[in-house]
Amino acid sequence: MSLPFTLLIDPVPVDSDQKDFRDTFHETDSAAPALRVDELSTQRGDGVFETLSVVDGHPQQLEPHISRLSNSAKICDLPLPNAHQWRAAIAYTVARLPQQGELALKFVLSRGVESGPAPTAWLHVTRAADFSSVRENGVRVVTLDRGYPRGAAERAPWLLMGAKTLSYATNMAALREAKRRGADDTIFLTTDGYVMEGPTSSVILCSGGAYVTPAPGGAILHGTTQQSIFEYMRDRGQPVEYRDVTVGELRDADAAWLVSSVRLAVAVTALDGEPMRTDQRLTSELNAYLLARTA
Ligand code: PLP
Repeated sequence: MSLPFTLLIDPVPVDSDQKDFRDTFHETDSAAPALRVDELSTQRGDGVFETLSVVDGHPQQLEPHISRLSNSAKICDLPLPNAHQWRAAIAYTVARLPQQGELALKFVLSRGVESGPAPTAWLHVTRAADFSSVRENGVRVVTLDRGYPRGAAERAPWLLMGAKTLSYATNMAALREAKRRGADDTIFLTTDGYVMEGPTSSVILCSGGAYVTPAPGGAILHGTTQQSIFEYMRDRGQPVEYRDVTVGELRDADAAWLVSSVRLAVAVTALDGEPMRTDQRLTSELNAYLLARTA
């Protein structure tokens, strides 16, 4: 099967007792037109998505991704996705993909066409970029103000913080700003100086003898890669903590990483122009473990 691979999906309601979903999705030529121009995903970025990695034919962290899609849909008042249907669509797709190498599988649930009766959904697979060099050499990071204080998500849920929406223009703008400042990536801070996440990644640091990540909740995503890494650390008897992290604690950390589904774990080698301590042996060990996951 050649890449990219695209599957168009007719979403089945979450409470349907349908068991066989084969007639609810169909492959389409990735280069052919597939969406209407009045699609709210393209008009307003009004939809939610997930990107998971497929490594040597294994979709990684499938269930955490499906449940985060449901959570995002709930936050956005979208019809909840039918998990059985998504599992079936992803299994159908994975069976038709190359069984070697790293692929990125993106799945999307949009509010659908303007005044249309139903949401729109699709799935799109591409070959992943080659991240071997950045996994080895790490990234230089600048901190950027996210523009909200801690607690904004609870006070203003309509900001949809904590949902993985299609509206990533702000996240991409932050990456461009990081590049303008001579860095490779960025970590968002609240206006009162707490660490949030990267525009496409979660933050983990080694601090005070524990592996720490900012508590997921209203304002940031609960990263599936971060969850895998915490599981790995727990299995090795290493303490892990979800809690508030100030930018000062991040600067003083023994090591810090940006972690995400397709790029996996990359070390933060500099923060705002100051060198950071790194643990390349552990970074390589984490990436070997992440790549070897079969679920
Ligand atoms: N935070 C944001 C804003 C993201 O976009 C992502 C992934 O794209 C993550 C965190 C990391 O999540 P995951 O590890 O599930 O890819």
